[in-house]
Amino acid sequence: MPGATAQTLRPFLWRAEQLFSDREIVSRTHEGIVRYDYEEYADRVAQLASALDEIGVEEGDRVGTFCWNHHRHFETYFGIPNMGAQLHTINPLLPDHHIEYIVENADDQVLFVDQSLLPKLEGPAQSDAFDGVKQFVVMGSEVPETSLDPVVDYESFIEDHSTEYDWPDVDEEAPAGMCYTSGTTGDPKGVEYTQQMLWAHTMATLPESGIGIGSDEVVMPVVPMFHVNAWGMPFSTTAAGAKHVYPGPSPEPADLANLIAEEGVTLTAGVPTVWLGLLEYAKENEVDLSSLERIIIGGSAAPKSLIKTFDQQYDVEVVHAWGMTEMAPIGTVAHLKPEMQDWPAEKRYEKQAKQGLLVPGLEMKVIDENGEEVPHNGEDFGELWVRGPWVTTEYFERPEANEEDFVEDDDGTWLKTGDVVNVDEDGYVQIVDRAKDVIKSGGEWISSVELENALMAHDDVAEATVIGIPHERWQERPVAFVVPTGGADTETLQEDLLDAIKAEYPKWWVPDDVVYIEEVPKTATGKFNKKVLRDQYGEDTDLVKGKAPEEAAPEGDDD
Ligand code: ADP
Repeated sequence: MPGATAQTLRPFLWRAEQLFSDREIVSRTHEGIVRYDYEEYADRVAQLASALDEIGVEEGDRVGTFCWNHHRHFETYFGIPNMGAQLHTINPLLPDHHIEYIVENADDQVLFVDQSLLPKLEGPAQSDAFDGVKQFVVMGSEVPETSLDPVVDYESFIEDHSTEYDWPDVDEEAPAGMCYTSGTTGDPKGVEYTQQMLWAHTMATLPESGIGIGSDEVVMPVVPMFHVNAWGMPFSTTAAGAKHVYPGPSPEPADLANLIAEEGVTLTAGVPTVWLGLLEYAKENEVDLSSLERIIIGGSAAPKSLIKTFDQQYDVEVVHAWGMTEMAPIGTVAHLKPEMQDWPAEKRYEKQAKQGLLVPGLEMKVIDENGEEVPHNGEDFGELWVRGPWVTTEYFERPEANEEDFVEDDDGTWLKTGDVVNVDEDGYVQIVDRAKDVIKSGGEWISSVELENALMAHDDVAEATVIGIPHERWQERPVAFVVPTGGADTETLQEDLLDAIKAEYPKWWVPDDVVYIEEVPKTATGKFNKKVLRDQYGEDTDLVKGKAPEEAAPEGDDD
């Protein structure tokens, strides 16, 4: 439509600067707490764009960031896309060879890096993969001793530049962002976000059916900004004109508790591990969470016990959400429908522990092993397929991966999520497993996710994961790997856990063994990395030997 505004990020910044100029942005940094408002933010964003312009960054160029959550990183979120370049957030927790692959594959021209992450970047930066990087910028006001070259500190980089920038009219199809998924096998896969995808994701997550962010909120994304743009919250919080709080490098539970209390955080977001850590801290220390209204939890399943504790002890609503890098990332949110608000608590928690209702604007279907769509009855399951304005239809330069993860039908391209789900009569999606993590025993599926939740509900379990070990008769049997808490009685815990599972699940679901480990191996995005455990224990059939066959038999199927 001639004259129509393109669906780009620029109007979000304009609105915050014009209409909410004195709302604050607060950031914990290695230099202490930094505090300013949208007016100053917009000035610095313009200075950043001028500085990038001056060193030759052009529309379509990729600019990488290797940073935690703080105000300078947030400045790149609008500065880079608004000038028509592409913000490429890099996960610093990845192994070195992945970092090299990603920087080379994305052809990053400039890299912004946190002071605390210099040691992590310096190794990979020696490789040829970094030949295209023409400038490193250290996030701070000085450059410590480093082998990175050429290098400048952020404040010197932007300081002499104008606070006005003549923003170009960027095409809504132009790539604005990029993030790699941390594949547990093979090279990471790049996902590009166009201006329009980020616009659409912002517009979908702003209202109540998404996250629901009002201009009076104080929003603290704990989910890292290198992980799918901190679930888009820096964009949606700006679009709302709300206050931002950024927890800085490697925040500890004490840092989070302090920021919540001191800044009056109303809404925060992160993976379950973070909130389990905060609850653990709160047991030993005085914390004031009274300002907090909601926590968005996703990335992995939010255990029911966590939802319950926050509700009952802190009057905080856990909003469980599901998403993927490929979908920028939010896909479903487990809001209760109005008629469910008065349900008994336990029934509400059950519902909230599901991954939730599809966000308006997306489409989905659930496809079983025979390629048929499954009915919404809360039982039948299959792989979840999705598509929509903020769902990608391809990976960056990876045709072979496209063939595996996307499928064309008469209406267009669907993303095959790899998540195995059921959908109940009310429309709530529940993940029963990752397609590759599902355990098949005697021809029947066992949900490792459910067993993990049951194990982690035990007070003496800090973390638990369940994998399938090959078994001669049953093809696979579940074995649990458990990290006991400090005070746990490890003499009795194994038996207790097995009893708890026996009481709740069919007997063939009961793990053949419970193995204590010191820590569950994690991926770079903080999720359980079952591949490491599979590599270590996958062939250890002693763990599943000597079990009576009937114990491993699905009910009604003894063979
Ligand atoms: P990666 O696959 O590299 O871990 P993502 O961060 O894109 O990258 O992870 C997406 C996957 O994370 C989803 O496909 C799903 O398996 C899992 N996931 C995300 N949110 C949830 C949730 N709320 N409950 C259970 N699993 C989740």
